[in-house]
Amino acid sequence: MKTTQLFGIVFLSLCSMAGAQAQTQIIAHRGYWDKLGAAQNSLSSLENAIKMGAYGSELDVWITKDGVIVLNHDASYQGVVIQTATYEELSALRLVNGEPIPTLQQCIDIAKKQNKTKLIVEIKPHATAEANVRVANETVKLINENGIAHMVDYISFSEQVCQELIKLNPRHRVAYLNGGKSPAELKAEGYWGLDYAWKVLKEEHPGWIKEAKALGLSTNVWTINHAEQMQYFISQGIDYITTDNPQLLKGLLTK
Ligand code: MG
Repeated sequence: MKTTQLFGIVFLSLCSMAGAQAQTQIIAHRGYWDKLGAAQNSLSSLENAIKMGAYGSELDVWITKDGVIVLNHDASYQGVVIQTATYEELSALRLVNGEPIPTLQQCIDIAKKQNKTKLIVEIKPHATAEANVRVANETVKLINENGIAHMVDYISFSEQVCQELIKLNPRHRVAYLNGGKSPAELKAEGYWGLDYAWKVLKEEHPGWIKEAKALGLSTNVWTINHAEQMQYFISQGIDYITTDNPQLLKGLLTK
């Protein structure tokens, strides 16, 4: 074999190794808020995630009594239950860094100004079946009205919310968070992918990433904040890692 051929083969092998690692994408969990004076689920954390070039910025949404979709992790904030409050009641509250509670519309307005970082919209399980259907429909309506469906992936712990999203449009990218469904079940039920806790994918069902990939499902793991765990999932060829420490993950992926 000629030396030039040998170099060519080595070069191509290195490229394919680098390519395999580069496949894993960064999702900033509740935005990129850690150590930056931002708050979780805030506009500044979304802006930070965009600035650092994340694939996606995850955010948690609820719908208020008067139909405004807002960001918050828990069902209530400072004692105010979002589902039974009006937006006006919530608008007086402040996040830990002084920002108001953002609406999904405000996040969309920021996301629309660029075309790289997606919104990873987690629709929280609401109190009733009707509320789950309502929040899924209103969220999709808002995203479609704004023309950014191509910039949104949906996730939820609620099977009902997920099924409503799939029913509204089978092409919606919907990933299930709750860990209880095998890749084959997800595929049969029309899901785009799985988004499971690290324990499910590493300890309980270490074969599921491969199985999901073979079925053409996307694979995402939460919430991975340490380098060693990140390396493990990168080595498994996972598509997305959801993390509170996107900068650490970025460093590992660009090494
Ligand atoms: Mg979430």
